[in-house]
Amino acid sequence: MLRRLVILGPPGGGKGTLAARLAGRLGVPHISTGDMLRNEVAGSSLLGRRAHDYMNAGRLVPNELVTEITNRRLTEPDAGDGWILDGFPRNLTQARALDDALAGLGPQAVVVLEVPDKEVVIRIGGRLTCPRGHVYNLTRSPPRAPGICDIDGEQLHQREDAAHDVVLERIAIYKRATTPVFDYYYNEGLLYRVDGMGAPDEVYGRVIKVLENP
Ligand SMILES: [Zn+2]
Repeated sequence: MLRRLVILGPPGGGKGTLAARLAGRLGVPHISTGDMLRNEVAGSSLLGRRAHDYMNAGRLVPNELVTEITNRRLTEPDAGDGWILDGFPRNLTQARALDDALAGLGPQAVVVLEVPDKEVVIRIGGRLTCPRGHVYNLTRSPPRAPGICDIDGEQLHQREDAAHDVVLERIAIYKRATTPVFDYYYNEGLLYRVDGMGAPDEVYGRVIKVLENP
């Protein structure tokens, strides 16, 4: 099976779940630009502090920051025999920078998870978490008492980037920035659009089918 893959899709589209599972199956690292950025932010590195303001506003972190940490990660030894890139490249500048950095060893397939806007709003606009990491969804799996974790009674909160207007802005930014990336990879014959609706198992099954018969 192909071993250098890019997974794209809207925020809340299920990229992370899919990428983690594919990485496990292939024995290659799951490289999430979002997770790496959040780690930098949590560690308050210089890069993290620069990224923080953008992320809070639901805006994209500048290309050079994202490209720098992604390229750095791709040169680590465990990425020598393949990788799954989750949510990168998300604009044309990043796609070109990736091809330049990898010099002929770029992605072998780019999978786009297609999820309607309405579903994205339900999935991430309704997401609530407690300080211990239990996750709820206002529409799909609400807590028994409003705003309180069923398991430990802790107060639930919404991530800053999950506020309704921020979610809509994130969707708009995704479409504007990433549509040219689809065209770019389509022209290279690498683009596969997969229905991202339904249970994670179903989506995973669809993707495997595509990757086994590209
Ligand atoms: Zn809890």
